Formats: sequence, structure tokens, C-alpha cells
Amino acid sequence: MDLSDFDGVRAALHPVARLLDGSVLGYQAIREGSVGAELDLIFVRAALTCSVAIRPPILFLNLPVSALVERGAVQSLQELAADEDAPTHRIAIEISEPGSAADAAGLGTIVADLRSCGFRVATHDGGASQAGMLGIAELRPDFIKLGPRLTSELHTSHPRRALVVSLLSFATHLNAQIVAEGVDTHDDLATLLDLGIQFGQGAHVGEPLAMPSLQGDLVAVDFGLLSSLTVDSFTPDGPVHPNQLVTRHPPAASTVKQASLPHALSSAALALQAEHDPQRILAVIAEQLSLVVPVDDLSIYEAGPDTEQFVAAFATGPQAEQIMADSFSMSVGLNGWAFALGTPQNLGNAGAHPAATTIPNTPFEHESLLLIPLVAGDHKLGMLNCRRMGLNRFTDEDLEAASLFGHTAAAAWHNAQLYEELARRAMTDGLTGLFNSRWLREAGEREIADCRRRGAPLSIVLVDLDHFKRINDTGGHAAGDEVLQRVADELRRTSRAGDGAVRLGGEEFVLVLRDADAAGAVRVATDLRAAMTKVPIPPACLGIERITASVGIASFPEHGSTLADLVRAADVAMYGAKREGRDRVKLALDEPVTVPRSGSAVA
Ligand code: GH3
Ligand code: MG
Ligand code: MG
Repeated sequence: MDLSDFDGVRAALHPVARLLDGSVLGYQAIREGSVGAELDLIFVRAALTCSVAIRPPILFLNLPVSALVERGAVQSLQELAADEDAPTHRIAIEISEPGSAADAAGLGTIVADLRSCGFRVATHDGGASQAGMLGIAELRPDFIKLGPRLTSELHTSHPRRALVVSLLSFATHLNAQIVAEGVDTHDDLATLLDLGIQFGQGAHVGEPLAMPSLQGDLVAVDFGLLSSLTVDSFTPDGPVHPNQLVTRHPPAASTVKQASLPHALSSAALALQAEHDPQRILAVIAEQLSLVVPVDDLSIYEAGPDTEQFVAAFATGPQAEQIMADSFSMSVGLNGWAFALGTPQNLGNAGAHPAATTIPNTPFEHESLLLIPLVAGDHKLGMLNCRRMGLNRFTDEDLEAASLFGHTAAAAWHNAQLYEELARRAMTDGLTGLFNSRWLREAGEREIADCRRRGAPLSIVLVDLDHFKRINDTGGHAAGDEVLQRVADELRRTSRAGDGAVRLGGEEFVLVLRDADAAGAVRVATDLRAAMTKVPIPPACLGIERITASVGIASFPEHGSTLADLVRAADVAMYGAKREGRDRVKLALDEPVTVPRSGSAVA
């Protein structure tokens, strides 16, 4: 039995190509109609057979989460691929229809399984909501597909363009490729190229190929939407040159709009994609905006949702210093007024507006202002102010250009903030808010390298709470957690700017003391040991009045030259303190301690 035995079931391979030159990245196997698991299996096998024939491009194979969560599904897939001689790294499993929460929870495991078999992974844009993007970040797909609806609305909707800019820089962080679906027209293609999207599929990219059945018979492709296209066919055994299979539509020069505003907006979008640091992105916004709208100077205010205050985040011009020192309530002034309205405003005589207030220590001057709220989706990020000296200096076109630019800028800024937040979370211990062992591994080596370069010392203070188990045993786990949080507060209090306070795991902590030699570290550790005994113990811990800690210290360069060596030396010293009766500070032996890397205390 093969695909041709099923009337009304049609299957095809849709090319996924590089938009710039039409060269083929891969083919997506698509079928219409399904008569159950048996056919699905035949479809998958037929697609895998094709993946051999179309080599080297990648086969994109859609599989619903519900099929993938079934026991042994990934393994069967791997076996099928092996049967067909299809190398798994040329197969991207496109996870579709994530349905229930249970499906979503199992997704991480599925993706890990697929990866361990060598498959690549593709997901959809997840609606590009914050939750969707965080989910994608956790899955780390190789490809992120933009749905056809998003693609078709790109050239008419500026917020959607901004969304795509945001997704692009997000994908860059993840090392994922974006593939736009539904590239059906010249306009779609031109817009995507303008935005810097590299890959796409759809009627304008290349025509679908009929998918051969297992016996080599072709199954007719007559999807309604494809009826106007000619259908190429190929035999699995024949020589295949991917570029010959695809009708190419390179962008005609005339489709790249020459008008200056779209061009300026597109290059601004590209420049914004390249920057991911939230602070530096503001400088890029300023630089790019001045290419879109003429300004004398500009400023950007960040809205603090918790504080209800605008804080100056970026400013240019002669008053930049005064502006940067300023923060004010989000409910006052011109910015408060425009922010509440949520729409861009062009004020020909800013000083005359009833909501106007002045910035402290600046002279009064006649000035024109564009006030642009920076909004990304549901997130009201802040305000962009464009200023020109004199009255009525901005035109309606300037206002339109600045507000279009504002959409893109807001998306890029929000994306950078989101990514910074993800990076921060990955380095933070959830219970105490201290850094975690991952931070220690990554930042610790950097710190040591820096001290080596400067010829400066550095010390590691390792703290292990004594008999901590008793706290849990008497007061319960919640009481234990509370004590750990209070201990973390003490570590924070003890560390200076530039030091790192780390929860290594369980009831073990580390202080990384920059520029501190052994004598300095002993002083810090001695104070810390004393502070530990004053940490309040929850009343539930009956019979326990105080907590103590055993502390080991190791210093660079005398006790080790790598982070792992130093942590190990401090660990040995800490165990010495335990053996000698706990509640004490001990310095590592003066001889350098060398340890095999696998024995590192930092896992
Ligand atoms: P010692 O003086 O020898 O260090 O004794 P100890 O009891 O502190 O050491 P041990 O390593 O035997 O026990 C550590 C305890 O820390 C056991 C574990 O339940 C507790 N612990 C580890 N992580 C957490 C946590 O996140 N919360 C709570 N409440 N307890 C934790
Ligand atoms: Mg311990
Ligand atoms: Mg302990």
C-alpha cells in the first residue's frame, strides 16, 4: 500500500529557498487529507524517501505534537529515517499544533530527544507574544517559521514589520533561521528582503513538486490553491540539481521601492536588528532616527511601570546632561500627556501647550516637538522626543515618518530588554536572587583573567552552613528556605560593587572578591562568619537559636590560577574548618592546589 492507494490524499514538496537568489534550502513535505495513523506513516516514509533524493537540501516534515508525544515516536522516526537511508541532520521536524498544556510541557523532552537523534527542529513564531518567545527561547529551534498571514500583512502593517524585526534579532540570539511562509507576491518578497529575512516559501518562491509514492508513481497535486501552477515532477532516483527544480523569481529592481522614507525605514530596521544591548540600542535608535527625520536633538525616556516615573535613558544636544539627570512622574508634562493618549503628537510651539513643563536648569526657548510613544505589543516602553529649535519646524510627513520609525524602534528595544531579562534569569538563583553556579563558571574565569592582566589579586570565599539539615528537620523546608534567603541578604551586604555573591547550590555559597588578597578576604570572611550567627532563625525551628558557617578561602595567584583550582582549594579549606569544629574561617594551604579538571567543585 502506498500514497497512490488513497484517493483524495495529495502530497507535495514545497521549496524553501533563499529569497535573494532562489537557491534551495530545503523542501517542506505537505499533505492534504488524512485517513489516520496508517496513512500518516506512509506519508512520513514517502517524505523520507524524498529526502534522500533531494539531498543536499533539508526536508521539512510537519508533525503534530500529539503524534510526537506518543511513546517511542521519536525513536520510530529515527528508525524510519535509518530504513530509508535518510541522514537525520538533513531532516527538520516542524512541530505543529501544540495543543494542550500537557503537550507543551512534554515539548522540551521531545525536542531534546529529536536533537539527540540528530534531527533539526523548526517551530512557529508562537504568536510572537512574550510567552511565545520565551517558549521558543527554551526550545532553541534551528528554524522559526513566520505564518503566511504575518507575511501577507507585512507590507501594509508597520506594527507587523516591527514585530518581524523583533523576531529577527531574537532569532539571531538563538542562532535560528527565520523562514517566512506564504511568500506569494512580489510585494511580499520585496518587503521580506528589505527587512533582512533570508528564507521563505510560497507561490512566489518556487512551485511545489509532486511527491512520489513509495513505488515511484506520482500522486497528482491538485490542491485548490495550487491549481494555477504547473507542477514539476521528479523521480527519486534521477539526478537532482536543486536549483533547477525551482522557478526563481529574483526581486525585480523596480520592486525595491526607491522612495526615501521606506528605504530609510528599512535600513533603520536592519541596523536595529544588529544591536542587542538595551542601552546601546538607544544610541542606534537616535542615529537611525536622524536619518529618517531632521532633528536638532532628541531624547528617550523609559517608563518605569512600577515607579510610575519616566527616567531619561538617552539624550543628545547641548542640554543632554540636564535631561539625563531628570526623572518625573508619568502623569505630568507633555510626555505624560502624549503617553496617556498613546498616539504620536506634533507640537509646533511646545512651550505654549497647557501640559508643558520645563526641564530644570534649561533656558526657555521656542521649540517644536515630536512626541512619539514607544509601544511594543502590550508593552508601553517609553517616549521618544524629537526637538527642533524654532516654531512649526516639523511637517505632517515628519510626524508620520517618526511614528513609523517608532514602531520598529520600540520592537527592537523591547526585544533587547526581553533578551537581557532571559540572560539575567539564566544566571540567577531563583530562591535567593544571588548569582548561580553558571554565572560563577562564566564570569569567574573572566574575572581571574582580568586580575591576571592587571596583576591584581582575587579571592574566593566559600561558605557552607553548619548542620543546616537540622533547620529543615525541625522547622520544615519552608523555614530552611527562609534562612537561606536571610543568609543571602548577609552575603549581599558583605559584597562590594564588582564582587559576586553566588549560591553554589544547596546551603553552599561563594563570594568572589575582586582585588582582595588573602588577608583582605580573611577580614571579610571573619565579619561574615560573625554576621551569620545573628541571622534570625524562624520560630518553627524549635531548639535552634542560631546558625553558624564554616568558611574556606583561596586566593589568586597563590592558591591556584584557574577558577576550578581556586574553588577546590577553598573547598578543601572549608572541610578543614568543619573537621576542626565548624563555625570558623580557614585559609587554603599556601602551596598551590592542583586538581584534575573532572574533580572540579564547580560542576
Ligand atoms: P554540615 O555541617 O556537615 O555541612 O551539615 P549540613 O546538614 O549542613 O550538610 P548536609 O550536606 O548533610 O545537608 C545539607 C542540607 O541542605 C540538606 C538539604 O536538605 C538542605 N538543602 C539543600 N538545598 C536546600 C534548599 O534549597 N532549601 C532547603 N530548605 N534546604 C536545602
Ligand atoms: Mg554542604
Ligand atoms: Mg552544610
